[in-house]
Amino acid sequence: MQPSVLIIGGGLAGLAAAQALAPRGLRVTLLEARTRLGGRASSFNDAATGQLVDTCQHVSMGCCTNLTHFCKTIGIDHLMQPQPCMYFMTPDRRVSRFRADRWPAPLHLLRSFAGAHYLTLGEKMRAAWGLIQLKRHTGDEDPPFQAWLDRHGQTQRVIDRFWGLVLVSALNETPDRIGLRYARKVFVDGFMTHPRGFEIEIPSVPLGRLYGDELIHWLNDRQVELKLAQGAKTFLLQGNSITGIQLRNEQVLTADFYLSATPFDRLLDFLPDDAVDRHSYFGNLKNLETSPITSVHCWFDRGASDLPHVVLVDCLGQWVFHRGETLPGEWYVQVVVSAARQFRGLGREEVERQVVAELRRLFPRLADAKLLRARVVTEHAATFSAVPGVDRWRPRQESPIDNLFVAGDWTNTGWPATMEGAVRSGYLAAEALLARLGRPEKLVQADLA
Ligand SMILES: Cc1cc2nc3c(=O)[nH]c(=O)nc-3n(C[C@H](O)[C@H](O)[C@H](O)COP(=O)(O)OP(=O)(O)OC[C@H]3O[C@@H](n4cnc5c(N)ncnc54)[C@H](O)[C@@H]3O)c2cc1C
Repeated sequence: MQPSVLIIGGGLAGLAAAQALAPRGLRVTLLEARTRLGGRASSFNDAATGQLVDTCQHVSMGCCTNLTHFCKTIGIDHLMQPQPCMYFMTPDRRVSRFRADRWPAPLHLLRSFAGAHYLTLGEKMRAAWGLIQLKRHTGDEDPPFQAWLDRHGQTQRVIDRFWGLVLVSALNETPDRIGLRYARKVFVDGFMTHPRGFEIEIPSVPLGRLYGDELIHWLNDRQVELKLAQGAKTFLLQGNSITGIQLRNEQVLTADFYLSATPFDRLLDFLPDDAVDRHSYFGNLKNLETSPITSVHCWFDRGASDLPHVVLVDCLGQWVFHRGETLPGEWYVQVVVSAARQFRGLGREEVERQVVAELRRLFPRLADAKLLRARVVTEHAATFSAVPGVDRWRPRQESPIDNLFVAGDWTNTGWPATMEGAVRSGYLAAEALLARLGRPEKLVQADLA
């Protein structure tokens, strides 16, 4: 009989592992504490209307080859909409458009960059020189990026309006807390290597629908046993092996292999203290730090703009997504604020007030529009922080416990905390498990060529 694997966690990491292992003959069970799949990339039911609303709008990029592969395999790639143009707006409502020309990378964005109204010519030359230095940079060390920027002559205004503008959204951290390695990855992989690398993709449907019925059918068709609304509580260990997983309802599930794909603090809860103390692999996880994201969902009695999404420069909000008339007479706008520590200590009403006031200032059509409803959602531990040297705390997918593999965007993938990073971690964990079975196979997809 084929070996069995119990995957704990139905976020993208666990789902990618299931998607990789089930067609290769393993008997897969997927355990998820919540009633739906998708983990942090999911939606909730709006109590007022019953509509599916994303906890936060998720965006992917052309360079996310593993997420693309996952979506194609499941057959949900048609629900991701490429956005060839990005729009950047300043408080004076001026907008710059960013789209690729048919020139080879990195020249494909030169014309748009040259036209950006929110940087002076001198600032553009300064930023361009910084980009060249960043691309040339070699070496594995991961020093503070802020110091690197200072050393390379980047002024605070260039940091705020160029480097920080991109990094806060991409890494959910401010430049003063980021390491060079992931800052470089964002700019070099995303913007300088392939003309399509920077192209953002936005789901045309709520995440709960994207990672919904098609996905469940696909898994069912491959005999993946889905156990929703069943949370793991403890790993039962004997010697250096897991003998079973005790659930919150006290039931015990067993398998040949276990693949934990939960957030890292959950994994620490599952393990006995002495296992965490014995293995720095687990103990190191206590060093990972996290960063919050706030999204403000607003429904107005009219549309704000014809632009589908806008990146805000020098504003409180960072991204505005116009989702159109989602119910008759209701236009839905979502504002996302990454690394949202500035909201700590403020009540939801105050956050809503500030964000709505900014929307009304930026989009004249909203000046006297009626705000029908609003909702503020903060994910306090939205992603791990890519602080300098963070990779020394991120574990590989094969754990020191004999039959335990680990996935999650926070494991060592070479990627920041993203849907792509989560899918990569699932594929890497599946690769490690297959190698253990003597059936090595490459599952991680190549970068854009
Ligand atoms: C607000 C926000 C905005 C984001 N925006 C973007 C974006 O625009 N683009 C992007 O690429 N990424 C974005 N991300 C990051 C992205 O969502 C994550 O990197 C990715 O979804 C992580 O997937 P995962 O499978 O590693 O973890 P998770 O999604 O956290 O999955 C872990 C799963 O384990 C389950 N679980 C926990 N405990 C138990 C238990 N005891 N038993 C069983 N199951 C359990 C959880 O319910 C969850 O489903 C965003 C994240 C947040 C929070």
